[in-house]
Amino acid sequence: MPKIAFKCIPVVLLVLLSTNTYAQEAKTETPSKAEATAAPIPVLIVDGQNGYHGDWPKITLMMKTYLEDTGKFKVDVYRTKFLMNGKREAEFPLNDGKKYEDFKESKTDPDFKPEFAKYKLVINNFGFNAAPWPEETKTAFVDYMSNGGGLLSIHAADNCFPQWKEYNLMTGLGGWGGRTEKSGPYVYYNDKDEIVRDEAKGKGGHHGPQHKFEIVLRNSDHPITDGMPPSFLHAQDELYEQLRGPGLNMTILATAFASPEQKGSGRHEPILMALNYEKGRVFHTTLGHAAYSCECVGFITTFLRGAEWAATGQVTIPVPKDFPTGTEESVRKFDEREAKETATESAKH
Ligand SMILES: [Zn+2]
Repeated sequence: MPKIAFKCIPVVLLVLLSTNTYAQEAKTETPSKAEATAAPIPVLIVDGQNGYHGDWPKITLMMKTYLEDTGKFKVDVYRTKFLMNGKREAEFPLNDGKKYEDFKESKTDPDFKPEFAKYKLVINNFGFNAAPWPEETKTAFVDYMSNGGGLLSIHAADNCFPQWKEYNLMTGLGGWGGRTEKSGPYVYYNDKDEIVRDEAKGKGGHHGPQHKFEIVLRNSDHPITDGMPPSFLHAQDELYEQLRGPGLNMTILATAFASPEQKGSGRHEPILMALNYEKGRVFHTTLGHAAYSCECVGFITTFLRGAEWAATGQVTIPVPKDFPTGTEESVRKFDEREAKETATESAKH
């Protein structure tokens, strides 16, 4: 606690009183003794193939930086040696001594065998048209999740693996890759605030042009959303819609209205979801198309809190004071140079 001169106290009180309700309710940002001395939560980001999403190497670095900046996580990255859409990989290398090759078409990396069990959370930053993982790796991942692992699916990670039944049970909903009514129902909210599971025939996955949109909470009792304001304006991004899948053991935490003016479905589409898969936990965010989308404080906060929940079942990360409101966005520009230094430093250890 910094020393406060007596004459300053009224000013401090004034600031406290004028701070919005949500910031007041947020837990203190000073970690408790127990938290400060706790070992960091081990996290693994996997990536390497992500069609239409050329920012993926940068977004991996952004996620790693966001997580490690909290002091609560230690993040490793495991990348397939066969990249797809990997032009920007050279700008954001892992410096891990591995040789990477970039291809137009994705292909399975037979050596991709992360040690999932070493981690409390796996973040999937693969995306559209990623090649299937080796069978042995798929089995290891299902075992890991069944035994209480954590998964975070960001944006196009829900485009992945349309044929892998267990993966689709984990993420609940997905899009593209040939998904149809055979993949499961469309799941959304209607105008009466009812959840609809729509078995109609049709393709899974659509989005209109990128734009800023309001994200509305549907569940404030969940640890991830507890203390968040009822809605926030998200920075420019794709609004994923008409996703379909089994949608089991799934809590829709937040939706966004896919406006017909933006070539949207006219439905309130799931944006943030929490799921259970066997003993495992999954946080699914459809946000994060481009690096600028991931600079939104709403994205950062829900990503961090979702990561903590999927890893531990609890959330201690506060809602920050610069969290966006329902009508005003809030972004934190990502400092590429500083972040690169962080990556280089951590690769040395
Ligand atoms: Zn996208």
